Amino acid sequence: MLTGKVALVTGAGRGIGRQIALTLAKNGAAVIVNYNGSKESAEAVVAEITAAGGTAEAIQCNVADFAASEVFIKQVLEKYQKVDILVNNAGVTRDNLIMRMTEEDYDMVLDTNLKGAFHMIKHLSRSFIKQRSGKIINISSVSGVLGNAGQSNYSASKAGLIGLTKSIAREFASRGINVNAVAPGFIDTDMTKNMTEDAKRALNGMIPMGKIGNASDVADLVLFLAGEHSNYITGQVICVDGGMCI
Ligand code: NAP
Repeated sequence: MLTGKVALVTGAGRGIGRQIALTLAKNGAAVIVNYNGSKESAEAVVAEITAAGGTAEAIQCNVADFAASEVFIKQVLEKYQKVDILVNNAGVTRDNLIMRMTEEDYDMVLDTNLKGAFHMIKHLSRSFIKQRSGKIINISSVSGVLGNAGQSNYSASKAGLIGLTKSIAREFASRGINVNAVAPGFIDTDMTKNMTEDAKRALNGMIPMGKIGNASDVADLVLFLAGEHSNYITGQVICVDGGMCI
């Protein structure tokens, strides 16, 4: 159980982040439901948690913005005094072949997916080190492990998250702070729903288990990594992908 723990989940108004927020709250954590544009969805997540007897609050912040992230973390620490569990989930795609990829699309994806996680960890680092405990979970992707044609920006951001995870895990290991990455495969959310049926069929063929995953498949692993049963695990990349990365 996570009773007494404070969890911050970025991009928690929708998709995988939403399910992570619900799962952590169901297991006793007070959850900060961060969102960027989806205010109503984030408030609906909070309402669902509080209706079930849990504690949650929705707070807006664009994680890609260094200064706004600093203000956001200050606000969280002033109110909650600590963050025990940080889940860097916020992410975007702007897919294209490298020949057609614009600089804006490259920067946007790197700034959100990779720098966003850096901002959260950096602004929370003093607090984490002071409390000598904590769980940081970065949501990477199989695209960062295997690479994916048409996703050079996304893939680079997710591979970068793996490097960030391993380096911070080494920096924080002696302070009782675990840092791990979760690499989902093909999960049914808004991010994947606009794919053509042909693309979905082709992707399904790459999944040894022959089916796409649900947000709860990812959230259940995050719950394990957020709890004390994972205390001796750090710097790892764990795929939730129906066997794609075998
Ligand atoms: P999604 O349904 O498209 O949701 C993306 C979330 O990220 C939204 O809550 C969005 O918040 C948030 N976000 C985007 N930009 C943000 C910003 N600048 N600041 C704060 N929040 C921001 O995607 P998903 O499928 O749940 O993906 C969640 C994570 O899993 C991502 O990191 C994604 O790369 C990763 N992942 C997904 C899959 C998959 O198959 N679905 C596979 C591998 C990895 P707003 O709506 O408020 O903007």
